[in-house]
Amino acid sequence: MSLHGSSSKLPCTFKCILYSTEHISSSSTTMSKDEQPYIVMLPFMAQGHLIPFLALARLIERLKPYCSITIATTPLNIESLRSSLPPNSSIHLASLPFSPTEHGLSPHTENTSSISQTDSIPLLMFASETLAPDFDLLISNLTALHRHPPLLIIADLFTAWSLPIARNRRIPHFSFATSGSGTASFMSLWLHLPHRLTDSDTFQIPGFPDRFRLHRSQMSDYMLAADGSDDWSVFLRRHIHLYLTSDALLCNTVEEIEPCGVDLLRRIAGLRVFSVGTSRACGIEIDPCIEWLESHRPSSVLYISFGSQNTIGESQMMALAEGLEASGVAFIWVVRPPHGFNMNAEFEAERWLPDGFEARMAEKRRGLVARRWAPQIEILSNKATGAFMSHCGWNSVMESLSKGVPLIGWPVTSEQFYNSMLMEEEMGVAMEMARGVMGEVDAGMVERVVRMIMEGEKGKEMRERAARCAEMIRVAVEEEGEKKGSTVRAIDEVFELAIRGSSDVKKGFGRDGE
Ligand code: UDP
Repeated sequence: MSLHGSSSKLPCTFKCILYSTEHISSSSTTMSKDEQPYIVMLPFMAQGHLIPFLALARLIERLKPYCSITIATTPLNIESLRSSLPPNSSIHLASLPFSPTEHGLSPHTENTSSISQTDSIPLLMFASETLAPDFDLLISNLTALHRHPPLLIIADLFTAWSLPIARNRRIPHFSFATSGSGTASFMSLWLHLPHRLTDSDTFQIPGFPDRFRLHRSQMSDYMLAADGSDDWSVFLRRHIHLYLTSDALLCNTVEEIEPCGVDLLRRIAGLRVFSVGTSRACGIEIDPCIEWLESHRPSSVLYISFGSQNTIGESQMMALAEGLEASGVAFIWVVRPPHGFNMNAEFEAERWLPDGFEARMAEKRRGLVARRWAPQIEILSNKATGAFMSHCGWNSVMESLSKGVPLIGWPVTSEQFYNSMLMEEEMGVAMEMARGVMGEVDAGMVERVVRMIMEGEKGKEMRERAARCAEMIRVAVEEEGEKKGSTVRAIDEVFELAIRGSSDVKKGFGRDGE
């Protein structure tokens, strides 16, 4: 591993850590390198995980400028993170060697967004564990470079394999939940598989109040099929146990928007939980989607996206297009080939959309069909955007609510079903229109729901509630003298706990009640 910067005095076994020591002197003010605390972050390799880790890193960079931060991940993810960092950022990126083909993945597959079929995602999850030796080496190298170990390792659920490394090196280890209370539902469902204990189609989420009931249609196929001994269950249960043996849990939410959810997370996790949610900053200024939005009235455009690694079924896609056209509502729709096809292949509009749909929509500036990826946070920030039809991934939820945009839910997998239910039944900021990739979707129903949310009273009420959430999220990350928002206070507490913990590291020091 070679350290970029001054590597000459370091062990020569360093293979490929990209690490600039120049930043250390520029970011620290009066502290010497020996005193300067630093944090190492280890996100799972998916956009929905890298993005909130980076947002957390940038928040800490702003609030604790004396602290240095390193994010460790695989080479291609490093490149993508680097392109998202402003040039003056002090955040370091450390590259962990990874060879996708050794794990049955196609070359260059280092992120769930480049996996062609969602059912191959577990391969990447299982493979991530092979990063452990190089992560351990990175910690050892950084310890040598700084002449003291990191203040804290912040890991993901799917990188909870890092816990033994932290314990072995006597470093505090905090877990980071990239979802809000959806993480609690995800853990509870995988630990208990409640649908296997009943013949009923609906069941309570273990540990949740009675009103949080799920239907079998709100479970992913792989969870429905799980029996506790399959590869998914074994991997996830082991990681959940490690995750919950961590010293504390940071959560990508803002306490005020889902107070009951955060309590549930505390109860299920049995750890101290710190809500450190923030809103992602805009980066791109010029993009065809943004220019297109500029020509539309405030709150008149529906934005549609199913996140970085999901799509919908073929007949569903056709019905969605027909319903949108009939609704007369303007939209930006980010498309990928439908479920069952290679999601990274070229999108065949003539095959998967109604005849002439795209041209008709373009001609009247009615609709913009974007391929694969759109600048989501910029779209949601634009005043023309009036609602978001979303798969309810938590980052999309937080981004939408932070901009006061209500949602039309179409959850397709995992804790997205819970998120959709939470937003509709507890928060009143969303309405679920469809679920899953297999069920039938009717164009008439799409038209009705879209018009109700974009033009009706129901949509107006949801927009008002979403605007209140936006205000709560804005205030949470503010700091004005003594007045600190809840996220800012949570980051202070995380630092206090980590500092206390690093001088007295013992298993479980951050558990509730201690
Ligand atoms: N995203 C984006 N443009 C797209 C699709 C996704 O910028 O076209 C970003 C989105 O803003 C969010 C992340 O990718 O930050 C997706 O995370 P989320 O939790 O919503 O869903 P996931 O992709 O993990 O299912």
